[in-house]
Amino acid sequence: MPSPSLVHLGATVPSFQPNTYFIQTWGCQMNEEDSEQLALGLESIGFRPASSLREAQVILLNTCSVRRKPEEKAFSLLGELAPLKRANPDRVIGVCGCMAQARAEEIRRRAPHVDFVLGTGHVDEAPALVEQVLQDRRFATSLALPERKGAIVTDLPGRFLDRKPKLKAFVPIQYGCDKFCTFCIVPITRGRERSRPTRDILEEVRRLAEAGTREVTLLGQTVNSYGKNLEEGRVPFSELLWRIAEVPGIDRIRFTSPYPTDFKEDLIATIRDCPKVMEHVHLPLQSGDDQVLKAMRRLYTVERFREIVGQLRAAVPTIGITTDLIVGFPGETEEQFEGTLRVVEELQFDGAFMFLYSPRPGTKAADKEQVPIQVRRRRIRELVSLQNEISVRKNEAAVGRVFEVLVEGPSPKNPSMLQGFSRENKMVHFQGEGSLTGAIVQVEATRGHLWGVAGRLASVAKDRVTCPA
Ligand code: SF4
Repeated sequence: MPSPSLVHLGATVPSFQPNTYFIQTWGCQMNEEDSEQLALGLESIGFRPASSLREAQVILLNTCSVRRKPEEKAFSLLGELAPLKRANPDRVIGVCGCMAQARAEEIRRRAPHVDFVLGTGHVDEAPALVEQVLQDRRFATSLALPERKGAIVTDLPGRFLDRKPKLKAFVPIQYGCDKFCTFCIVPITRGRERSRPTRDILEEVRRLAEAGTREVTLLGQTVNSYGKNLEEGRVPFSELLWRIAEVPGIDRIRFTSPYPTDFKEDLIATIRDCPKVMEHVHLPLQSGDDQVLKAMRRLYTVERFREIVGQLRAAVPTIGITTDLIVGFPGETEEQFEGTLRVVEELQFDGAFMFLYSPRPGTKAADKEQVPIQVRRRRIRELVSLQNEISVRKNEAAVGRVFEVLVEGPSPKNPSMLQGFSRENKMVHFQGEGSLTGAIVQVEATRGHLWGVAGRLASVAKDRVTCPA
């Protein structure tokens, strides 16, 4: 499939608008956040956003390697960019993100018109690479990831803190991952786990709040293992949450994704006791079978996972719990898959991201004998159908409940309705004035559906949330 932005390219190749950029992003929230940093970096050297890819002088592809499909899309778009580069050699084409980190040589070979490849370790180098390419017209690359074997790491990407005003913002607090799950490419593409110093995170959150941000989502691959190997000494993740809660102007704090074995009692208590920490946990289960979990090198059992869910629900009965699940992992038998269905039925998640296993070259599981694709496809259909039923049932059962919602504005699909998320991360639609955008309101649910609830405005909060800390 050609990229929509290039569909109408036709035979004539348009020239670009000088000093403009376009960033195409695939993948997770970390990539979205990196793309914002790439944009700020380019703006710091005088570039401005182009209205379309074709008009941009600098085109960046911020890629994802977690599954095969986004990699194929990136290579396909790179192929379509070749004539643009040939017609206008002053264009700059850069590839960034996880695929750039893992497959730099292949990118160079398959797409010689690419001007630079920038890995995940130093997103802040993008402006320097663009300037270098414009000056030397030679291929440039930056792929170094900091090594770490238990020692303190200070080699973190620099950040542009003058971010655009926004109601909700992502804030990375940790980079990389030390867990090495056998299906996952992230430890290779993003390197070993490194935490950002607490003072830097607090400074960024303060500046976001001053610019109008009310909700921050803290990002990390195993976000709740935050705080190890810091120069300032160990800072537990729960302590970081309390410190962010003290920042004036921030009313809501979320985090994603925690790792089950690092989910300790202090974090459960913080979710219960800190009014600014939202009652939602996205806790990846991956499989409902202990043997599969072991083969995935997940460091918990189904029983331990069940215990954490029980503790969370005992502490905060209204909590929203969502998860990630993979079906068709190499060696997964029918019985083991049914085990996953049983656990999903038992734990009644509010929602789930469900994936069909996709072998990633360079990971341990990729070399194992694969479950036939038609079996994987049938399993994912069964799982999705079960989880969808559960989500609908739970959202229908929420009718009559009053949800606190941060209003984000008109719904893109139905602009006559306003949209926002509840504390439990349910999407909520209701009728109201556009002037409520940015406000925290109470909405009574009148209808539940797959993606959340619809309701009626009950009241508008007068005061900001206060934190007792
Ligand atoms: S915990 Fe596992 S799945 Fe998550 S980023 Fe680390 S290696 Fe990948």
